Amino acid sequence: MNIKPLLQDPIFSKITALADAQGKEAYLVGGYVRDLILRRPTKDIDVMIVGSGIEFAKSLAGEMGGKTNLVIYKNFGTALVQSGSTAIEFVGARKESYDRDSRKPVVENGTKEDDLQRRDFTINALAASLNATTFGEVTDMFGGAADIDKKCIRVPNDPDVTFSDDPLRMMRAIRFASQLNFRIEDGTYDGITRNCERITIVSQERITDELNKILLSPKPSAGFKLLFNTGILSLIFPNLVKLEGVETRNGKGHKDNFYHTLQVVDNISTKTNDLWLRWAAVLHDIAKPATKRFNNKSGWTFHGHELKGSKMVPGIFRELRLPLNEKMKFVQKMVLLHLRPIALAKEEVTDSGVRRLLFDCGEDVESLMILCEADITSKNEYKVKKFLKNFENVRRKLKDVESRDKIRNWQPPVTGEMIMQTLNLRPGREVGILKVAIREAILNGEIENDKDQAVKFMLSKAKELGIKS
Ligand code: ATP
Ligand code: MG
Repeated sequence: MNIKPLLQDPIFSKITALADAQGKEAYLVGGYVRDLILRRPTKDIDVMIVGSGIEFAKSLAGEMGGKTNLVIYKNFGTALVQSGSTAIEFVGARKESYDRDSRKPVVENGTKEDDLQRRDFTINALAASLNATTFGEVTDMFGGAADIDKKCIRVPNDPDVTFSDDPLRMMRAIRFASQLNFRIEDGTYDGITRNCERITIVSQERITDELNKILLSPKPSAGFKLLFNTGILSLIFPNLVKLEGVETRNGKGHKDNFYHTLQVVDNISTKTNDLWLRWAAVLHDIAKPATKRFNNKSGWTFHGHELKGSKMVPGIFRELRLPLNEKMKFVQKMVLLHLRPIALAKEEVTDSGVRRLLFDCGEDVESLMILCEADITSKNEYKVKKFLKNFENVRRKLKDVESRDKIRNWQPPVTGEMIMQTLNLRPGREVGILKVAIREAILNGEIENDKDQAVKFMLSKAKELGIKS
């Protein structure tokens, strides 16, 4: 195989010239070659030098001069050369051998073959020559090109050794399967199943990195099902696994909330690439197991799962080392409010209901609507149509009310300060009571969103409640 026509970037000819002048072998390797063959856009370019990657990168950067940036990662034995929007990582060919108790291999200098031997999957173990006489020629020791053709993830060596050496590779296999829409070859898959316990020696950051990549793939359920079926998911995300299963009592069952959740995640993934909205889909029903009750009249209920779920979010984010910042708050809010538009759509859509939703949701109301639409997974087409139609109504009303009342990010026209000044009150309970009363009156449509009306309302309310300064 030769991929010369795919190697158009002018920086490659600079590498060719320098490598030939120095008598060094240089190869494009790994994911970059794989993605070139797949015609898939990639950012990071990896170049393997037989010899020192750092020394080569230094001389290349020196040669290119000007705006070229060089960063050396001494601990990893790699160097990054950046020029314009192109960044190339240089690494020396290496040979690796592992110890049973850590992910850290013993590393020595090696040949091109040694270097390809240490790589995780056949599709990632391709090297394309950058030297002039062999330019574009692909070294394929394990049939990686054929596996790309077959859409197959396969380890080049004994799967038990590969996955035991570095258990992160199990998640990488599943992540690539989900990202590329490949299947995992049977022997490799069985190896993951046998070694799944080993995932526990991998750091949470690395696991979550892969989990995020699975979640950002075109159809995340593919990856989550593989994680579940291989036994990995119950080790890294037990709360999600608890959603699986159907219980039947007196002939009444409930839906399987695990597969429902995965369907919601797939649905939402057709509408948004936002990682955090996708996380909201993963977590929207997370408290269903904890709130599940059976009642002879109404069957299975999950009352309060949205509130309980939103309270579970920080614990889950902490365990998964996801950020405990405004992204987490956004996910909490989505989980908390995910039933509101449905509740609205079920009855006649009232102005006050819509105003309340806008007030509670603010800027994120569009994200919430996307989540709610994704949450409709009924197999009954008639029902789905009806719900979606009702949502259209809600959306129309949202626009309507918003353009009239500007509730999004709204602050009531009378502040606590103003209440205290006007009524000559000290800070305390009464101020809070009046503030809430004014807000509620506006949201309910009793008075308009207007300062004069609010002040008038406040004075009469204070009188009614006997509040004196
Ligand atoms: P992406 O950049 O989309 O994550 P990639 O295949 O480029 O995919 P990287 O993590 O960038 O993955 O790694 C580059 C290459 O290094 C891989 O293609 C593979 O050859 C090798 N590699 C990375 N991680 C491992 C690992 N844990 N075990 C063995 N080889 C690995
Ligand atoms: Mg890469």
